[in-house]
Amino acid sequence: MKHVAIYPGTFDPIHFGHIDIAVRAASIFDELVVAIYDRPAKQLLFSAKERSELAQQALVDLPNVRVTAYSGLTVEFASEVGAQAIVRGLRATNDFELEYQMALINRKLAPEIEFICLMTRQDYAFLSSSVVKEVALLGGDVNSMVPPHVASMLEIKRREREKNHQPAPVVSLRD
Ligand code: ADP
Repeated sequence: MKHVAIYPGTFDPIHFGHIDIAVRAASIFDELVVAIYDRPAKQLLFSAKERSELAQQALVDLPNVRVTAYSGLTVEFASEVGAQAIVRGLRATNDFELEYQMALINRKLAPEIEFICLMTRQDYAFLSSSVVKEVALLGGDVNSMVPPHVASMLEIKRREREKNHQPAPVVSLRD
């Protein structure tokens, strides 16, 4: 039997923490589908198409990984692509609360699909798309956090927003 997993998320944008989880999941499963959720209840910087293209390029060297945007229930998407498992990454304890709740809800909806969490590598424990966006839009160097093509797109967004007098979304750093 072919073992397939999906790795769902927002990926706004993809960063080294996500890539590390994708690489490790791809070594466990025959096929990994990185599933880009098209309209999360979050303030997004990139469109679903942009997020998919950035992820695609970041994962191009992994032959058993493909990237697809999806909408609707994650477990339904998992069934559509024939996945037996949903992979997520865990950083800190607050990730655990959320993932635990989601795993239990998803199990109610689709008991046949297993929910697998991989622990972050210590180097990436601090890394989130929000931090990447905040640093990049304030003009900081994100080269240790994202691949070069993602850093370039972030710089394009920074310039666009500067031209349109849009403030950078500050989550944490300037308090
Ligand atoms: P979501 O918006 O669904 O939380 P994200 O795009 O933020 O999705 O992340 C997708 C998945 O990757 C989630 O399981 C998240 O916990 C995981 N993840 C995000 N950042 C890291 C990181 N630095 N290390 C490990 N896993 C991570």
